[in-house]
Amino acid sequence: MKSVVIVGAGQAGFQTAASLRMEGFDGGITLIGEEPHLPYQRPPLSKAFLAGKQDASHLPFRPERFYSDHSIDLELSQSVVAIGRASRRVALAGRRMVDYDVLVLATGARVRKLSMSGALYLRDIDDAIQIKARLEPAGSVAIVGGGFIGLEVASVARAMGKSVTVVEAQDRLMPRCIAPVVSDFFLELHRREGVNIVLNSTAIPAADLTIAGIGVIPNTELAQAAGLAVRNGIVVDAFLKTSDPNIFAIGDCAEMNGVRLESVQNAADQAKCIAAQIVHGPAEYKAVPWFWTDQFDIKLQMAGIWSPRLRAVVRGSVEARRFSVYYFDGERLAAADSINSPGDHVKARKLLASGEKLEL
Ligand code: FAD
Repeated sequence: MKSVVIVGAGQAGFQTAASLRMEGFDGGITLIGEEPHLPYQRPPLSKAFLAGKQDASHLPFRPERFYSDHSIDLELSQSVVAIGRASRRVALAGRRMVDYDVLVLATGARVRKLSMSGALYLRDIDDAIQIKARLEPAGSVAIVGGGFIGLEVASVARAMGKSVTVVEAQDRLMPRCIAPVVSDFFLELHRREGVNIVLNSTAIPAADLTIAGIGVIPNTELAQAAGLAVRNGIVVDAFLKTSDPNIFAIGDCAEMNGVRLESVQNAADQAKCIAAQIVHGPAEYKAVPWFWTDQFDIKLQMAGIWSPRLRAVVRGSVEARRFSVYYFDGERLAAADSINSPGDHVKARKLLASGEKLEL
């Protein structure tokens, strides 16, 4: 009987533990997380939770008894500080050792910070509680970074009646992951809702509250210190194995084929993949990436991975705020962005998974 130790009790770590039991794994599972909270979902932190539409009791994936009912040894407020690869054990901050047969690194990422002091950042529950408390009395809010998190916070703050300015260093919104046509749509949306968007700028305006969403840094130090291959994430192969065959890495901290994704889908599907492998044997990870963001009354759902070299075809009505943009590599569908069109999104995911042709 094997014992699996999971470092990091976030989306990927939780899902690994839960999926191992669902797959029938009957060995030991130790889930170690440095946060004091039961494993919880992060997406509502910049959406319903921040807007006061969902309280903290809805954030945990499962109640505390789930872990005892499924014989998952959940160790909260515990940091893993070293990996002994030869002895197959990890060391906790208090020097306690935990033995493993299989180790899963699901250490996630931490926020990138500005050089100025005083700005707030959003990664965990405690950050969200602090931002929520500071947002209520604030009249004006400056948001640094026009990415997903910055824009979600902007839309919540604006809906609360705050004066909101977003500064984005590049010439369009969410430039890393979406095409210009979709960036333009969101620029127009935010401006119409009264958000002051300043592109091509890093000058932070004076405001009662400054919140920065300027990206994350993967937590790879533990892996690096253990001699595992690390680039912009812990390097994994097609099976999500690191350079040590007894160690997997998944979620925001892992880089596969030169790509490191930061999404619930990626964390959850990679976790399910390795849980199945631990129980049933090797199988490559092949899931279609997808992501969503909610801003004002718009839901954007993305499938596949956009890149600037793809050809974009728009279908639906941009004016009616229901449309999809399909991206082609030659004749092959490579990605799709759907705005308030969940049916298109689901169809695009199916086509991306099957490789079938999309007839437009
Ligand atoms: P995490 O969830 O970050 O978990 C990693 C955990 O490991 C953390 O709790 C960390 O404290 C712990 N840890 C790190 N090192 C150690 C150590 N040495 N010892 C013990 N514990 C350790 N994705 C979407 O798809 N859609 C969204 O709408 C969306 N919205 C988001 C909104 C916000 C505000 C944030 C912050 C993220 C959002 N995401 C969204 C991204 C998504 O939440 C992440 O991609 C996902 O949480 C990644 O899961 P993970 O398990 O890899 O990392």
